[in-house]
Amino acid sequence: MKLRPYQQKNADEILACLERGVRGTLYALPTAGGKTATVVRGVIREVVNLGWPTVFLVHRRELLHQAVRTLARVGIQASVVDQDHDPDPLALVHVCSIDTLKARKKRLAGWLRTIKLVVVDEAHHAVAAGWQALLEDFTNALILGVTATPYRGDGKPLGVLFNEAVRGPSVGELTPRWLCPAEVWEPWSPDTSGVPISRGDFAVGELDRLMNNDKITKMAMNAYAARMPGEPAIVFCVSIAHARRAAAISAAYGWRAIAVDGEMSDSDRDSAIDGLASGYYQHLMSCQLVNEGTDIPVVSGAINLRPTKSTQLKKQQDGRVLRTHFGKTRSCIIDMAGGANLHGLPDADLLWTLEDGLIPIRHRTIRCPKCRRRFEPGPFCPSCSMAFPHWQQSTLPVLAGVSEHILRKLPTQELERFVASEIDIRHIARAKGLANSWIYHASQRLRDRQNERRRA
Ligand SMILES: [Zn+2]
Repeated sequence: MKLRPYQQKNADEILACLERGVRGTLYALPTAGGKTATVVRGVIREVVNLGWPTVFLVHRRELLHQAVRTLARVGIQASVVDQDHDPDPLALVHVCSIDTLKARKKRLAGWLRTIKLVVVDEAHHAVAAGWQALLEDFTNALILGVTATPYRGDGKPLGVLFNEAVRGPSVGELTPRWLCPAEVWEPWSPDTSGVPISRGDFAVGELDRLMNNDKITKMAMNAYAARMPGEPAIVFCVSIAHARRAAAISAAYGWRAIAVDGEMSDSDRDSAIDGLASGYYQHLMSCQLVNEGTDIPVVSGAINLRPTKSTQLKKQQDGRVLRTHFGKTRSCIIDMAGGANLHGLPDADLLWTLEDGLIPIRHRTIRCPKCRRRFEPGPFCPSCSMAFPHWQQSTLPVLAGVSEHILRKLPTQELERFVASEIDIRHIARAKGLANSWIYHASQRLRDRQNERRRA
């Protein structure tokens, strides 16, 4: 199988960084954009041909075997390093459990020094203290981090480890060819103002008291029945008790539902996930477990009962429904968590740099009071055609609060995606010292985009 055009372009950009000897390169691509394929086919295969000893680091058991299988498909036999296996001295590519390497790094110090490339999957974890210390022990290696969320909830910048970023296309650019478009419905939104914040997100105990409420779950079930009856959906919950309660309510509505949690055995959890994939279950209730890296492409729905302050968690939740699948033309998100209002629609662009992490911007959305669809500002509701004559009032400047110092670090083309008004255009031009001719053409492009919205 050949790489998609953007994957090939990104792989070439990554190889160029390796060729220049950049110690840390971060590759960012949205969930379901095919990060592993890009890196395995486009990068690892190339460096293996050059004879580079390579380590592929993963932090969870499921991902270990997934990586071995992906490498095998392009003809690379990788050896596994985990609690039962030491490195095979004859292998060139090693898929390693990070916990095993952390535990054995003294004994394996000599071997770590022979490695030339370390690929770190889900690299937003990599600046955690234990990971960072381990990566420093690969003294002769270049590091390639891969992530869908190139920023962290705790605000620790990934620039500590990574010097250069390769930016893949955004969710918006990947839709609809490579990702499935998602509709957001918001029948109700929570008042989270009284919920205390703990370590950057809502305190779980208080959040559970707010959200583990049968009235809210029933409203969500009614919206599910109206918008996507019978379609496979993941239900994001706050706690194990919340997940079990929501499953009981779903069952009372006549759906087959199961709650999964960390207390289950691996095989029970896998069979619940298989049951959702095969169509036996309509609802899989989960707290945290089905966020990161779980691929069930057939899933076309999410019911979000788990408000979060973390953009990272929100993007992982959205990512679960964005994969394309035969016969799946759109996904539905029933948002009971105020998530799209706070973090933007699933295809909203995010502004980030390696040094500053995620940069807060205002997300522009409208919620239709008639049908409760939340959408990008435009003259009509895309679902019920209700008119919004004042929609352009919501196209106020988006970048106004972003400092010129930060704007200077970002490619102009990247920044132009965020432009919502002339004020944004002038702000970018001032920060980057761009000529009047750029202002003229950027304004033209903005008007073209707005006219397109008006006609759509
Ligand atoms: Zn509407």
